[in-house]
Order: sequence, then C-alpha cells, then structure tokens
Amino acid sequence: MQTYDYIVVGAGSAGAAVANRLSADPRNKVLLLEAGRASHPWSSIPIGMARLITNPAANWLYSSEPEASTNGRRLPVPRGKLLGGSSSINGMVFVRGQAQDFDTWAQMGNRGWSYTEVLPFFKRMESYAGGGDDGFRGREGPLRVTNPEPRDLLFATIIKAAAQVGIRHNPDYNGASQAGIAMSQATIAGGRRMSTAAVVECDPPCQSKAACLRAPYAPWHAMTGMEQSSAFVEGCVSEGSAPTAVVRENAS
Ligand SMILES: Cc1cc2nc3c(=O)[nH]c(=O)nc-3n(C[C@H](O)[C@H](O)[C@H](O)COP(=O)(O)OP(=O)(O)OC[C@H]3O[C@@H](n4cnc5c(N)ncnc54)[C@H](O)[C@@H]3O)c2cc1C
Repeated sequence: MQTYDYIVVGAGSAGAAVANRLSADPRNKVLLLEAGRASHPWSSIPIGMARLITNPAANWLYSSEPEASTNGRRLPVPRGKLLGGSSSINGMVFVRGQAQDFDTWAQMGNRGWSYTEVLPFFKRMESYAGGGDDGFRGREGPLRVTNPEPRDLLFATIIKAAAQVGIRHNPDYNGASQAGIAMSQATIAGGRRMSTAAVVECDPPCQSKAACLRAPYAPWHAMTGMEQSSAFVEGCVSEGSAPTAVVRENAS
C-alpha cells in the first residue's frame, strides 16, 4: 500500500505537465496514472504520426455518433493512449490562440484570461528556437518549438506567390500578429517529436520525482477488454489540507 499527496489521472499534454510541476516541489509525492503504454516506436519519429492515427496500440480510436450533418456517418476521433497522450500522436503544429479571442473572453467576464495575462504562461512553456520578439516568445521552457525554413522550392514558391496577391510572409505568427503566410512552427527538435512524455521519460520512473505507473484502474477498462490492471486507486482520504490517495498495486 502506498500513499500519495496527488494523483494525476492521464499522462497527456495536461496531465504530464501538471505532474511535472507538482513534483518540482520535493515535499509532494505525486502519482501519475496512464492507461496506455509507456511509449511506441513510432511516437518519437515525426513522420510516425501516420502509423499511429489508426493504431489501437497508441490510440483510443474514438468515433463520433452518426448524425444528420455527417450524413449518418461516424467520424474518426483519434486520441493518444500512451505516455504523452495526444501530444505523442498529434500533428506537432504549434499555433497559439489568437490574442483577440482571449481579450474578448476577458471582456465577457473571464477575468485573468486576457492575452496579456496568459502570455507569460505561453512564454514559460516553450523554448522557441526561431527568431522573433522575446516580448512574445519564451526561450527556456520545457517544450522545444522550432520554425522550419521554407527550403523546399514548393513552399518558397507558395510564399512568394502569396506576396504577389498581398499576403505578407509573417516570420513569427505566434508573435505580435498572426496574420500572413508562414511555414508551420512545430514541436519537433533534432528530428524528434517533442511531446509531454519527455518530461516523464527523461528520468527513469523510479528516479523521477513523479512516480509513473501504467494503470488502467477504472472497472470499465476491464470490461472493455483492456490489459490487466497493474494498480487500483483504492480510495482518497483527506489528511490535513492535501488529499492522500491510497493505491494498491498488482491488483486485477
Ligand atoms: C491526431 C491528432 C492530431 C493533432 N494535431 C495537433 C496539432 O498539430 N497541433 C496542436 O496544437 N494540437 C493537435 N492536436 C490536439 C492536441 O494534441 C490535444 O488537444 C492535446 O494533446 C489534448 O491534451 P489533453 O491533456 O487534454 O489530453 P491527452 O493528451 O489526450 O491526454 C489524455 C491522457 O489520459 C489517458 N487516459 C484517458 N483515460 C484514462 C484513465 N481512465 N486512466 C488513466 N489514463 C487515462 C489517455 O491515455 C491519455 O494519455 C491533435 C490531436 C490528435 C489526436
């Protein structure tokens, strides 16, 4: 029986980042539960995305309900099922939300969400390798973001053609303005996918500050024929101000 101060369910884009931040405080004992596998051979290779988009080993393969507007069809809804979650199978395109949207939400009463207020968090999450304005871009965060050069003649020609019809080349659409044409910035560095799995995978789990278990713990997982559970969350009790989770390992 082990106890933890925090249990984070799902080691995806959000969960792995939350566990990483919580475990930065050595007083916190953090358990990160992930239903899927620790990794997949194709998940770190950018082009491997094509091999994961319909692959049940790393993808929940959800689909939408049939409805009139889809002519009765079920549309595929892929979601990552491995460490890093969907950030381990996604398209790696890096685009921030538009400043005006954040500002409109703030004006509608969503205090704290204006672009000026969220910008420090965008900056803190990234290590951006391109040029750009340091007022908008972060250089020391955990997520590496790159800006590919339009070296291929096709891309260069399209960008040039856009200029001829008045669409300017924007060297950093995640900077002061999103308008214009540009190559997609990418969560790819050194030829590898940058997923949130990296924040957990960098350290072997035992040495990591965040404990990491593959743990399909919810009963419905067993009912839908997933692998045997390796751990069960047995309960959560409140001790002082922080909840303490009680985990029983090797249960089925
Ligand atoms: C194919 C694809 C392409 C995409 N392309 C882009 C792109 O180019 N650019 C972009 O910005 N965004 C893209 N996205 C979207 C982006 O990746 C997601 O919005 C983001 O990763 C979602 O993060 P999340 O933390 O909410 O969920 P996820 O990252 O999906 O994490 C959820 C995690 O929880 C786990 N889990 C679920 N249930 C349980 C359970 N009961 N117990 C334990 N673990 C559980 C899952 O296995 C998964 O690992 C794409 C997404 C997909 C699927």
